[in-house]
Amino acid sequence: MTTPDAPALPLRPELADEVPYGAPQLDVPVRLNVNENPYAPSDDVVATIAEHVAHAARGLNRYPDRDFDALRDDLAQYLAVESGVHLHRSQLWAANGSNEVMLHLLQAFGGPGRTAVSFAPTYSMYPEYARDTHTRWVTGRRAEDFTIDTAEAVGLVETERPSVILLASPNNPTGTALDLTTIRAVLDAAARIPAVVVVDEAYAEFRRAGTPSALELLDRYPHLAVTRTMSKAFAAAGLRLGYLAASTELVDALRVVRLPYHLSAVTQATARAALSHRDSLLAQVADLRAGRDDLVGWLRAQRVDGRPLQVADSDANFVLFGTFDDRHAVWQGLLDRGVLIRETGPEGWLRVSVGTPGETQAFKDALTDVIGEK
Ligand SMILES: *Cc1c(COP(=O)(O)O)cnc(C)c1O
Repeated sequence: MTTPDAPALPLRPELADEVPYGAPQLDVPVRLNVNENPYAPSDDVVATIAEHVAHAARGLNRYPDRDFDALRDDLAQYLAVESGVHLHRSQLWAANGSNEVMLHLLQAFGGPGRTAVSFAPTYSMYPEYARDTHTRWVTGRRAEDFTIDTAEAVGLVETERPSVILLASPNNPTGTALDLTTIRAVLDAAARIPAVVVVDEAYAEFRRAGTPSALELLDRYPHLAVTRTMSKAFAAAGLRLGYLAASTELVDALRVVRLPYHLSAVTQATARAALSHRDSLLAQVADLRAGRDDLVGWLRAQRVDGRPLQVADSDANFVLFGTFDDRHAVWQGLLDRGVLIRETGPEGWLRVSVGTPGETQAFKDALTDVIGEK
């Protein structure tokens, strides 16, 4: 409480009108708002995690392995299986969510007098990482179909001369994946500045057949960083484990800015236990992909005010659809029927995560109801 004699807090002026980031965490039956995997870990996975955590607990009087070598080996092994790209542990980095990985990137390569560039609409956390590291924030526009125009992107990079370029692929909130031609052109332009190019692949495991991963470019581009997370496909949002693959030189720069012992022994143990069950944890990814494709098809067949709904192509576990004259009313109508989705993205659009078949059906029923009322 402020009394007349209490000194004001010396808050940085640029934070004065800011509010903490976060989607509403509402306790409703069907939660399709933050792109989680709807399937909880199996009893088997839970038992392995409990066992590994008990072992870690016996050593909690000691600080954890600062460089988490065993976990980095496990992550490298996982990527070899998932994408066929073989990396050394020194090319892997991890932190408490890929959010923290991004902060490390901006701390090492952004900063006062420097610029970060991205292409909107995109992940709403990016400008916050820039703000928190005093990095100037510049956005180009994505095209009508939410891809990035290669020539425009290269032009923007050459004009703004950023030190960090953030490309989400598949993008949030649109679901759009970028082709490697665009990413390569941006990497070539970035090399001339130089800038680090971050390809955020939080949703990579959901990409459609034939959509490549930027991991394939790592051996040719030492200024490329590909970020991944265990929060989405891996069904472990509560774990807070994000990671990155890059050149050893780039990873070594991140080691300078991280806080010592930033990954707790409990986190390392849990992540390793989960990775040892990767097949079981990723078992539903194929179902979720098929559910996503069905949902895109179903939404495209719906009409609002006599017009078909627009639906963005998706390589992720969510779908962006619209447009509505009053999207908030549609969001609220769904919530009144027990279905929570996300009011995000360009004006008029809404985003829904793919749930279990039952949850997706509940969403369809609720939307049919809400649209029918109009
Ligand atoms: C969900 C998401 C992440 C992952 O964040 P975590 O901190 O790993 O949970 C990263 N990037 C994008 C674009 C996302 O949507």
